[in-house]
Amino acid sequence: MRGAVLYGPRDVRFEEREDPKIIEPTDAVIRIAATCVCGSDLWPYRGLQSINGPTPMGHEYCGFVEEVGTAVKSVKPGQFVVGSFATSDNTCPHCQYGYQSSCVRREFVTRAQAPLLRVPLADGTLVPTPSVPSDDLVPSLLTTSDVLGTGWFAADAANVKPGSTVVVVGDGAVGLLGVLSARQMGAERIIGMSRHESRQKLAREYGATDIVTERGDDGVAHIKELTKGIGADSVLECVGTQESMLQAILSTRPGGFVSYVGVPHGVELNGGQLFFTHVHLHGGPAPVRRYLPALIALVLNGKINPGKVFDVVLPLDQVAEGYRAMDERRAIKALLRP
Ligand SMILES: [Zn+2]
Repeated sequence: MRGAVLYGPRDVRFEEREDPKIIEPTDAVIRIAATCVCGSDLWPYRGLQSINGPTPMGHEYCGFVEEVGTAVKSVKPGQFVVGSFATSDNTCPHCQYGYQSSCVRREFVTRAQAPLLRVPLADGTLVPTPSVPSDDLVPSLLTTSDVLGTGWFAADAANVKPGSTVVVVGDGAVGLLGVLSARQMGAERIIGMSRHESRQKLAREYGATDIVTERGDDGVAHIKELTKGIGADSVLECVGTQESMLQAILSTRPGGFVSYVGVPHGVELNGGQLFFTHVHLHGGPAPVRRYLPALIALVLNGKINPGKVFDVVLPLDQVAEGYRAMDERRAIKALLRP
């Protein structure tokens, strides 16, 4: 088969890779129905995160079970499944507490931009849909694998409740789906921070009530102005830079909650400053597996349409163009079809 391999900054190639096969009896191999490029793929793509030689790429996936190992019980060939970017046994203490992305047996999926994918710990990682979904639902189902699961975790970890005032920092696909998630959880006011018109439009469609275009101190000042000087109850930090993290913390009211789901790059917090903000901090790699059954049901019942974040759809062999379009911010998120 052929799949995506990152060679260095802005050098993604679609080239021959070994077909995945069952290695452990707990593995499954799935035939990918759709995969995509993640915002976090752009860190190594831009050379801001180093790689050790040519690196197969991709961690968002859904598709059909092709083959399972002898120990796999909960999924079988032919089923349509979605799994998290982090594998989990779904039985260890961390999994039981709902932090499957910290599973003691966790592995990160890194080879999903390909027609076939090996998924370790298939029983604890993959969630089958009740029947084979219609093709038009595949993009939305794909989002549950990471980007929606991460936006949902962002809203959950920031304690979004009915009536909450919420700020979402970041207008990438995770931020936009953080808006959707906050709306689903009953937030009354959702302030999206975005400087891009097409993203503002989708944010409003997903439930944003206000848009703030300023960043840094001006952005914080605008949030304070919109919240009568108090700050927000819940702030979702969906970028991962020093500027976005500070903006999130300083936009939160004392006693409020900041979630952070953007992979941090160069973020350093000052203990003294943090002490006097009085905020709760809760973040990390989203435990997508915790939310998968509920999110899949919301998609299948037509309650949400997270697949709208895919504004570029490409055949998998044009994966390099998907990275370029996202790198240049011509696309919010690129869907890839084998
Ligand atoms: Zn576990």
